[in-house]
Amino acid sequence: MSPSVVDLLATEARFGAHNYQPIGVVLTRGEGVWVWDTEGNRYLDCLSAYSAVSQGHCHPKILAAMVEQAQRLTLTSRAFHNDQLALFYEEIAALTGSHKVLPMNSGAEAVESAIKSVRKWGYEVKGVPDGQAEIIVCADNFHGRTLGVVGFSTDAETRGHFGPFAPGFRIIPFGDAAALEQAITPNTVAFLVEPIQGEAGVIIPPAGYFASVRELCTAHNVMLVLDEIQTGLGRTGKLLAEQHEGIEADVTLLGKALSGGFYPVSAVLSNNDVLGTLRPGQHGSTFGGNPLACAVARAAMRVLVEEGMIENAATQGARFLQGLKDIRANTIREVRGRGLMLAVELHPEAGRARRYCEALQGKGILAKDTHEHTIRIAPPLVITSDQVDWALEQFTTILTQDLS
Ligand SMILES: *Cc1c(COP(=O)(O)O)cnc(C)c1O
Repeated sequence: MSPSVVDLLATEARFGAHNYQPIGVVLTRGEGVWVWDTEGNRYLDCLSAYSAVSQGHCHPKILAAMVEQAQRLTLTSRAFHNDQLALFYEEIAALTGSHKVLPMNSGAEAVESAIKSVRKWGYEVKGVPDGQAEIIVCADNFHGRTLGVVGFSTDAETRGHFGPFAPGFRIIPFGDAAALEQAITPNTVAFLVEPIQGEAGVIIPPAGYFASVRELCTAHNVMLVLDEIQTGLGRTGKLLAEQHEGIEADVTLLGKALSGGFYPVSAVLSNNDVLGTLRPGQHGSTFGGNPLACAVARAAMRVLVEEGMIENAATQGARFLQGLKDIRANTIREVRGRGLMLAVELHPEAGRARRYCEALQGKGILAKDTHEHTIRIAPPLVITSDQVDWALEQFTTILTQDLS
């Protein structure tokens, strides 16, 4: 007999580091927008593994590509060439209009790789004195969990007791172009920023912000690095969130949905000589660019386009956003979103968002709280109108209750 839910939870608690506090559901199967728990209850996944399963759970074409490749060749290391890497490069470059690609695994690794690359570019191309490179980042950023990255977080939980941290970062408020202008010095090599701050609670910057950011970066020869690990690949209703702003980044970071949730695949993309400064032996990864990752990512990118998921994210996102805005409930302070990257911020008096997420679970919806009072909503991009309408009924039922 398979272990009971109680046993599984107890075993996790006993052996695992307690660095997460999951909602009390044990999932065992997924298909499209749906996931099932071990007791056979079905839920609409409104988190999509933080946007990694944008293509829907266990997409059959990505699965087929993965199985086919896994039976042939999985890992060679970059000591040898493999026959998937060139095709992955070609297809991701064509899709995103990029000139150079650096394949990595996790999102945080892509961020670290970008930091290394723009520093190197700063010393070798821009002419910044060695050891003096500065990178500007935003308050309330989220770029991952590695030591380099948490060192410039402004969140006490994220940073606390993990120091000492690497120097070379300046923090400015998000959405404030004047602050960027003031922070730039001759040693500034890059501005690293999320197009929409996801973990901070789906914070959309003021209109025109990124146009000003682009101008400032160009004027001062500062690389604009957009972390599109969460916003990219259709999540906001366009392939890249930068397209809403009418700009192009110098360096773009992708991850999460790049594999449709099958495998950790990330990439640093550059429009210019930033990645060109890396020479053999100066950066690498045993798994980065492996044939299994490349085959999975190729299929994940293909279905996103071929199956119209990006357009669907725009259409269903607009429907979902309007539906949330139409809910008349004293609990709701603000509804935000672009495409299928949505959030409901509750009034502090309404109680913790976690309580509402637990109540939503009882209605067949899995959503995740962030920052005490915000419920984030990010279903797979394959969601239909009927499923959006059904989800809105459940949200209406729960949000019109007082769970404080
Ligand atoms: C998730 C995320 C990361 C980190 O990706 P991991 O794969 O968890 O390392 C970085 N930046 C943003 C914007 C993210 O949402």
